[in-house]
Amino acid sequence: MLYIVPTPIGNLEDITLRALRILKEVDLILAEDTRVTRRLLQHYEIETPLRAHHAHNEHGTTPQLIRQLEEGATLALVSDAGTPGISDPGFLLVRACKQADIQVECLPGATAFVPALVASGLPCDRFHFEGFLPHKKGRQTRLNHLAELPVTFVLYESPNRLVKCLGQLIECCGGDRPASVARELSKLHEEVRSGSLQDLSDHYAEQDKVKGEIVIVVGGK
Ligand code: SAM
Repeated sequence: MLYIVPTPIGNLEDITLRALRILKEVDLILAEDTRVTRRLLQHYEIETPLRAHHAHNEHGTTPQLIRQLEEGATLALVSDAGTPGISDPGFLLVRACKQADIQVECLPGATAFVPALVASGLPCDRFHFEGFLPHKKGRQTRLNHLAELPVTFVLYESPNRLVKCLGQLIECCGGDRPASVARELSKLHEEVRSGSLQDLSDHYAEQDKVKGEIVIVVGGK
């Protein structure tokens, strides 16, 4: 059995009782960065062994993990924050488990795009999740595609690329398009700022340095 366990995106209280129980009960926790997960486990006094499972080793370690699961081990996969598989490693291992008929259970829980989308005030009955845009090759193609979508779309972006990204969105979607920037969700300096793409771009261009983790939400065409 493989459990996919969401972990907090900031506030350590944002973890479910079931997630804590499962992290205590499994034989092994697979973590994107064992140092980050160790801090969470220490906070909740969980002593389950940890092993690294990240984008750089997941191709290599997946067959061995499948063998362990077939022999009866119960594993939990976590990422540094939020839900594994959402702009984080997870997909390869889940697919391999499915192919090997190993049961996978994904717990509901923290992820950054849901609070960003809902707090944006933009329609969220239908939406598109884009995650991170490619940095170079293919970026413009994705931006052109997003600009034509008739539904709200959600992007993950790093703080030092925020202003550049808003500028590129203005080029594709026009400065009047309604949007929202969610920063540091569930943390001390949480901020959800809404306005047109142009308003947001002007605001963040004026800041010395944009800090924290960012989700950009843009209204549909
Ligand atoms: N697995 C995570 C999830 O379920 O949302 C996403 C991991 S991805 C590597 C990290 C990105 O998620 C950040 O660059 C940012 O775009 C977004 N993110 C994570 N935590 C956030 C927070 N507290 N506030 C705003 N955005 C956040």
